[in-house]
Amino acid sequence: MSEFSYKKGELYCESIKVKTLADKFGTPFYLYSYNALINNFLKIQAAFKPVDPLICFAMKANDNLAVVKALTDKGAGCDIVSLGELQKAKKIKADPQKIVFASVGKTEEEIIAAIKTGILFFNVESEEELLKINSLAKKLNKKTSATLRINPDVAAATHQRITTGTLKNKFGIDLQTAHRIFKNADKYPYVMLKGLHIHIGSQITTTKPYVDALKKALSFINTLKKDGIALEYFDLGGGFGIIYKDKNIAGPKDFAKVLIPLLKKIDLKIVMEPGRSICGDTGIFVTKALYLKDNGAKRFLIVDSGMNDLMRPSLYDAYHEIIPVKQTHSRKIKMDIVGPICESGDFFAKDRMFPKLKEGELIAIKNAGAYCHVMASNYNVRGRAPEILVKGNKYAAIKKRETFKDLVKLESIPDFL
Ligand code: PLP
Repeated sequence: MSEFSYKKGELYCESIKVKTLADKFGTPFYLYSYNALINNFLKIQAAFKPVDPLICFAMKANDNLAVVKALTDKGAGCDIVSLGELQKAKKIKADPQKIVFASVGKTEEEIIAAIKTGILFFNVESEEELLKINSLAKKLNKKTSATLRINPDVAAATHQRITTGTLKNKFGIDLQTAHRIFKNADKYPYVMLKGLHIHIGSQITTTKPYVDALKKALSFINTLKKDGIALEYFDLGGGFGIIYKDKNIAGPKDFAKVLIPLLKKIDLKIVMEPGRSICGDTGIFVTKALYLKDNGAKRFLIVDSGMNDLMRPSLYDAYHEIIPVKQTHSRKIKMDIVGPICESGDFFAKDRMFPKLKEGELIAIKNAGAYCHVMASNYNVRGRAPEILVKGNKYAAIKKRETFKDLVKLESIPDFL
């Protein structure tokens, strides 16, 4: 997290003191560095330059309009999974020919909107979905394009809830079925079947699962070739991991080194869908210490945010490094860092050695740029935290804090009560 560093004992994001933002916007809040975001994108682009990929940012990782626009302005496309993401991509005028659409359960409304938009292609997850897309395209009298998301049946050695590329998972199409679909492509005259898609999981930290998946894809592409089926695209999905704790992980250059030779053999237009590796380490979540509670057996630092704001620890037992916003020499003690919500899963860290902070002091939860704000909820009628973007010495709230009015605006009390 190179754009987040201490200067004279105070944490900065680029040229802005984090404390200044806390004073201005209150706590808790998300804070993103523009330069870190763009650098991550450019690093992946540079590493994979020999195969000149179209890099479609996986919006599910961070769908803030400003974040997505910052990336599309640099040439990124969008990997979307819902109508909402499509609408956001359109709102920032993303190039439709750089939008790819995955999701195991695309609704008719979503399919129609994507066809009308003229997206680059659907990543189709089942034969039933392909039939549906074909019939809707026929109704609209507009041909559309698709790749088949194949399930290469490789284990990604990541958390079980973010493994997607084995036949135990709901994603993709098994190779036998995919082969049959390609052979019977004329059953879908309104869908141009243009390629293959894989996405084997997220937070993958070694190259082997990709190598295994790409080898399977390559051999499948060769089988198709023998049947006279030529493809145009290979979409390798997302999944590159970031450093949450273990520093010894593969980065974009390591992935590129082993994957480029295979991608060259595949010899199709390459699409990639990185999410976490572009935005994960470009954000922090800032929250305030409320109480240090000692129950005799354990100590708890209770902060002014909870699992509703950042649920990765609760959901995946995920580790996030946590640092004080003002460096301190106070003694480190073992504690849980927890939120105020009445759930034992409401924690940010367990048995962590952390300085004894006083009420009102700020802490920063690192690597909070991906799959954090997007997963926030209003559980316990808690407004979602704002998102602040810093670029050099400039900053702006790119999403405001939700107010009570926002939280109740869709609710009503019916006459019969
Ligand atoms: N593409 C697809 C189809 C996904 O489901 C995901 C997320 O799981 C991604 C891309 C982005 O993955 P990551 O953020 O790990 O790069």
